[in-house]
Amino acid sequence: MVDTIVLLPAPGMGHIISMVELGKLILRHYAHKFSISVVITTGSDWDTPSIPSYIHHVSQSNPSISFHSLPSVSVDTTQTRSSTAVAFEFIRLSLAHAPHVLQQISKSSTIRALIIDLFCSSALPAAKDLNLPVYYFYTSGAYALAAFLYLPKIHEQTTKSFKDLTTTELHFPGMSSPLKATHMIEPMLDRDDPAYWDMLYFCSHLPKSNGIIANTFEDLEPEALKTITDGACVPDSPTPPVYSIGPLIAHSEEPAGDDGNKGDRAPEDECLSWLDSQPSRSVVFLCFGSRGTFSVAQVKEIARGLERSGQRFLWVVKKPPHGEKSKQAENFAAEFDLEGMLPEGFLERTKDKGMVVKKWAPQGDVLRKESVGGFVTHCGWNSVLEAVVAGVPMLAWPLYAEQHLNKNVLVNDMKMAIDLEQREDDGFVSGDELERRVRELMESEQGRELREKSWKMREMALAALGSASGSSSRALAKLVEALG
Ligand code: UDP
Repeated sequence: MVDTIVLLPAPGMGHIISMVELGKLILRHYAHKFSISVVITTGSDWDTPSIPSYIHHVSQSNPSISFHSLPSVSVDTTQTRSSTAVAFEFIRLSLAHAPHVLQQISKSSTIRALIIDLFCSSALPAAKDLNLPVYYFYTSGAYALAAFLYLPKIHEQTTKSFKDLTTTELHFPGMSSPLKATHMIEPMLDRDDPAYWDMLYFCSHLPKSNGIIANTFEDLEPEALKTITDGACVPDSPTPPVYSIGPLIAHSEEPAGDDGNKGDRAPEDECLSWLDSQPSRSVVFLCFGSRGTFSVAQVKEIARGLERSGQRFLWVVKKPPHGEKSKQAENFAAEFDLEGMLPEGFLERTKDKGMVVKKWAPQGDVLRKESVGGFVTHCGWNSVLEAVVAGVPMLAWPLYAEQHLNKNVLVNDMKMAIDLEQREDDGFVSGDELERRVRELMESEQGRELREKSWKMREMALAALGSASGSSSRALAKLVEALG
């Protein structure tokens, strides 16, 4: 019987793609040892119509990767709780069927290990019952991992919700500056929401695994990795080994399908050819992840700041959210009137210097263009890694999830990004502030130094996985050795 490694991603395209990339990385180096079995949930709200075609494409081009579905489950949506809490319950109910699916897989293969997403922690007890080693694939960076490992300790420091602790700062091991309690990772802001307790459960189970695979590399976050391996984040029990196997980045040749969050192919090509016609390192690229979006007032302010900065720009704008304070797009596919959101005459006045793209741009390809000299980012970890691999310096504008934490360490510890002042209560950024910071990134001595540092980090990123002696290749070899 063939040996297989079972991957268990959380629902949603982003999670599935990250896991599949890990599977492909393992197969690239160790196809003679293992096959990969990906177990996915069915029918979640996080799923998009493109998932079946993505799975079909991956299975066709990688015969050693097979997909297995958990049965569809239904969640009570009448209770008052966040959509994250509903999603977590959906995962928990789905994973109740994991033992059965694992038994099915073991009829034709010997399962060597289970690699799970953080949100799939409820699979851990079942895997232990089946005597299967469990590894986490942690898709953010090492500083964030250090913080997540330490969260149970932070939880003990107060009985209040972090969202209400407006003057409190939280100190995490290895991080040189504290994090405002109100900037805590999103599902942990409110203790009255079940998602808080789910996150606590996930984080307290991380150390119970056989190891944690992290999408980072040693040269990017050496202090954070040392803090973790020294045991400072889990003071009361042993810390499992951490395998830094990154930077793992999704490849653009895989069709992500038509999720409606992408624009048409033509505008994508148009922005790439526009970038080809711009001078070297002259364009600032603004893009805020797959979901990041702004109120019309904020969009207008960004436009004013960009125009006054005098810099060339490529800016991706999504449909504004319903609530003024929300920062995540609810409906990727919905059309909207872009021109009507911008200051009058903005597109005409800036047409020689800038380009505004609706909904989606091929970010990985954009960042690799020679003309791109800076990146205004929401600090999602994939975006950070893509910028690092392209050697592009960043201006940090965090919006949601663990992005404030990422910003803190990008600016203060890793020194890979410039800070941006956001309004205390809602994160609003004034046009003046954006203008000042964009100029700093693109024109100042500090910006030039950051660009040089980013270029050096790019080389280190490429070296980490580029040869057998790179730190990430060695970590992968150790992981495979541990998998047996
Ligand atoms: N992305 C893209 N074009 C866009 C917006 C996002 O290609 O217009 C991609 C980006 O390259 C990255 C991913 O979507 O790979 C976003 O992941 P990240 O972890 O940065 O943020 P999230 O979307 O999870 O908040």
